Amino acid sequence: MKKLIENNITYLVEQFYSNPSLIEEYIHEVYEVIGKVEDRVKSYITLRPLEDVLDEFRKLRDRIKYGFKGRLLGIAVAVKDCIVTRGIRTTCASRMLQDFIPPYNATVVERIINEGGIIIGKTNMDEFAMGSTTENSAFYVTRNPWDLSRVAGGSSGGSAAAVSSREASIALGSDTGGSIRTPASYTGTVGMKPTYGLVSRYGLIAYANSLEQIGPIARNLSDLTLMLSIISGHDPKDSTSLKIYDTNYDRYLSKAPLKNYKIAVIKECIEQGVDRAVMQAFNRAISRFESEGLEVTEVSMPLIKYGLPAYYIIADAEASSNLARYDGIRYGYHVGVGERSYDDVYSEVRSYGFGLEVKRRILLGTFVLSAGYYDQYYLKALKVRRLLRNEFVRIFNRYDFIAIPTTPTPPPKVGEAIDDPLKLYLMDIYTVLANLVGIPAISIPADIVDGLPIGIQILGPELSEGYLINIAYIYEEISKLRDLTPPLVV
Ligand code: GLN
Repeated sequence: MKKLIENNITYLVEQFYSNPSLIEEYIHEVYEVIGKVEDRVKSYITLRPLEDVLDEFRKLRDRIKYGFKGRLLGIAVAVKDCIVTRGIRTTCASRMLQDFIPPYNATVVERIINEGGIIIGKTNMDEFAMGSTTENSAFYVTRNPWDLSRVAGGSSGGSAAAVSSREASIALGSDTGGSIRTPASYTGTVGMKPTYGLVSRYGLIAYANSLEQIGPIARNLSDLTLMLSIISGHDPKDSTSLKIYDTNYDRYLSKAPLKNYKIAVIKECIEQGVDRAVMQAFNRAISRFESEGLEVTEVSMPLIKYGLPAYYIIADAEASSNLARYDGIRYGYHVGVGERSYDDVYSEVRSYGFGLEVKRRILLGTFVLSAGYYDQYYLKALKVRRLLRNEFVRIFNRYDFIAIPTTPTPPPKVGEAIDDPLKLYLMDIYTVLANLVGIPAISIPADIVDGLPIGIQILGPELSEGYLINIAYIYEEISKLRDLTPPLVV
């Protein structure tokens, strides 16, 4: 019999209304899957005990009796561990926050709960979201459910792995330079980074705040659209939040194109350095679009090669400032001060609390912001960011979307990329663009090559989430690449 979790969320919620006891069955099912696969996959840092989750179900059941309605009724949601959850430990995969229990909920979490969603756990990630493989977690690596010898991507690797392996119906990730899209691409799931300011960052532990957004990772477009509709929209608690109030994207789940779409492919992104399997999947996707009658044109954007360096300068600069608060006194892991000077205490706390990659970025970020280097690096990176933005505006004057690979390679083996920071940074070459420019981007499965899913990334102008959903849905319809099941789950 088809498991409950295999259904899309909207359908499941309908079933739950007519028969609330199904929620209990579904929760048991999810925990059974977790029991089977979690040892190997390691999606979660903190998993709530089944009893707590069942308690929540009972409370929900009572509320349903009194007429409660919610679009996520009883749905098991996994949340990346850099998004704060009241009463549930939130570590950012760092020793610095290993015992932190937040006293409040992030706005996105609050919205999920208001819709009847149940947060079942907090997912593994790269420490402070710095990385692309989840190998920078202070705790352990998350494995790819498609091939346990490979990474699930990062930094939202735990969220993507949980969704892919059915350890949750849907998850939230955060994306500063690709952290939703890369793991989505590697695990055969769909992930969207929304327009900057569309989703509240209140309660997202900051890494590089001018770049990052929270977004959904799902098994299919219908689930992703539902979650995006719920978490988007104005929040007075986030000063960068856009004044957007209509956030129902359902109508974009249409099999027919809602416009006469024109797609641009950036030549520089497919010319060199892209793995054979990725190119194969990408070309397959493009020819599927063409056979649907969509117009695809190659365009040139030479400036693109400056995207990655500009990103790493800006991200590290912001990180060095954001992470200054973890001094063991106001925030973070505590040690006794005794007779020691504050300098000694800070050094001890920060030496122990932060991992290698976080330290590297604090050092680089402090360097590019220091007198004498500020103009040479930081300001220059901001100028590149502005120029890139102009280039994207130019392209979007003529085309509706840009299609490029999500990542240049399939998921690497565990340990393969981690020792060489440059190799690791290069994985983000195509994802950082949307963050620098502030536009939305989605990764959807393009194809499966050699047994591994490979994503294609579609970018659109600011606030074009609806149309992105439409084109992604069209692709999902023609490719039938939805609800992909990794071999681990049978
Ligand atoms: N890999 C990129 C970085 O380490 C992106 C991470 C992210 O999006 N959080 O900065």
